[in-house]
Amino acid sequence: MIPGLDLPVRNIYCIGRNYAQHAREMGSPIPKIPLVFLKPSGTICFDGDTIHLPPQSNDVHFEAEIVVAISKSGKNISHGSAMEHIGGYGVGIDFTARDIQAIAKRQGHPWSIAKGFDGFAPISEMIPSNKIEDPNNLDLKLFQNGFVKQHGNSSEMIFPIPNLINFLSQIFTLHPGDLIFTGTPEGVGPVKSGDKLEVLLNNGLQSLTVDIK
Ligand code: MG
Repeated sequence: MIPGLDLPVRNIYCIGRNYAQHAREMGSPIPKIPLVFLKPSGTICFDGDTIHLPPQSNDVHFEAEIVVAISKSGKNISHGSAMEHIGGYGVGIDFTARDIQAIAKRQGHPWSIAKGFDGFAPISEMIPSNKIEDPNNLDLKLFQNGFVKQHGNSSEMIFPIPNLINFLSQIFTLHPGDLIFTGTPEGVGPVKSGDKLEVLLNNGLQSLTVDIK
C-alpha cells in the first residue's frame, strides 16, 4: 500500500533527465520530450527499510526524487485538470546501478535491470494534495550520512508535474495507485554498505530514511 493514501501500488513511472543540471552531470542531452521508463513493483519499499546492494553491481547511485501518487483515473488528461488526478506528494529514491546502466546506454539496451533490483524505489508517506499549496515549488534535499548531496526544487523541472501527467496519460491510462518518480536534480552519487540516506520534502514536511547494506 502507498503510505498515507491506502492505495495499492500500481505502475511505477519514472522520468529521466528532468533537471538540466543533472542531464549535464551525466553528459546527456536535454530531452525535448519526457524520457520515460518503468520500475517493477518489487522495487517499492518504505521509510525505515534497509536496501541490500545487489552483487551484480559495484556502483549503485542514489537519485532523490519528488514522487506523485495518482488517485483518479484518466486518459488524455489536460494540463489544466492534471492536479485533480493527484492524490498526494512524497519523496523517493530512484536507485540506479550506474555501471549496469552505462553498459545498457552504450549498447542501446533498456534500463530495466539497472533500475529494477528489489528495494530500488523506497517511497515516503504521501502528503495529501490538498495540503500542498504550490506543487511547482516543492523543495527536495538528500543527505548521505548527514551531508547534503542533492538539493533541488520542482520549479527547476524541465517538464513540470502537469506536463508529465498530460504526456504520460496520452500513452498510458493513469489509475489510482500509479506513482510518478519525477526525476532527480544534480548531485547523484554512489552508496556503500553502512550508509544512511535521508530525503526531505520542503525541509521536513515529509521525509524518508533508508539504510544501505
Ligand atoms: Mg531517476
